[in-house]
Amino acid sequence: MFKVKIFTLYPEFFPGPFDKGIYGKALEKKIWELKAVNIRNYAEDKHKTVDDKPYGGGSGMVMRADVIANSLDNNLEPNQKIYYLSPRGKLLDQEIVKNISKEKYLNILCGHFEGIDQRVLDKRNIEEISIGDYVISGGENASYIILDSVLRLIPGVLGNEQSTFDESFENGLLEYPQYTKPQIWQKNKVPEVLLSGDHAKIKHWRLTQSEAITRDRRPDLWHKRNKKN
Ligand code: SAH
Repeated sequence: MFKVKIFTLYPEFFPGPFDKGIYGKALEKKIWELKAVNIRNYAEDKHKTVDDKPYGGGSGMVMRADVIANSLDNNLEPNQKIYYLSPRGKLLDQEIVKNISKEKYLNILCGHFEGIDQRVLDKRNIEEISIGDYVISGGENASYIILDSVLRLIPGVLGNEQSTFDESFENGLLEYPQYTKPQIWQKNKVPEVLLSGDHAKIKHWRLTQSEAITRDRRPDLWHKRNKKN
């Protein structure tokens, strides 16, 4: 079973969208499980304070190292890996997603306010991950993105294992265009080759399309792929 723990100030955000559809079914089948840990329960003063003003001044509040460490240490084995969602982190991509999906655990720490006291980030086995070059108000929505991208790669979740096979990024390329019924829509026809039944030809057409789209829209991916091959 793939075990997910989310450390958050908003445990009520979970399971959120993940007890529905394919993920809900997989949850019932015990292919994965999710535990949301309320960081606030690990604050030790009577007001349950989780944050305070930054040393050195500046706006906003910072989450306290002691409270975060308490919440982690009481719920994880020593030295278990934790991903802290942060705009300073390594940019999430399909390769990171794939690697996480091969693990047995996924522990996610959601920040709020201005973020988290650096000392706990340094002193626990924490890797920072970013979902993109923009700032959102808390780690919870970012954790949805990681969860969604990872869970669909866990064996048994999607049902049809094949369906992640030729997707975007899988071979360093973006996906080719897809078509379904009706065959003619507002006078627009589906590309002839897709109706030919010639699998080799279709495969070749799709690859050519993928390459053109990637070259055009994402020169960064295109160069990366060409360097590898
Ligand atoms: N002051 C911080 C931003 C804090 S935003 C800075 O400038 O770097 C509050 C929280 O939202 C963060 O602690 C983080 O958990 C989450 N967050 C914001 N943007 C994110 C992003 N691009 N990727 C992942 N998490 C993000």
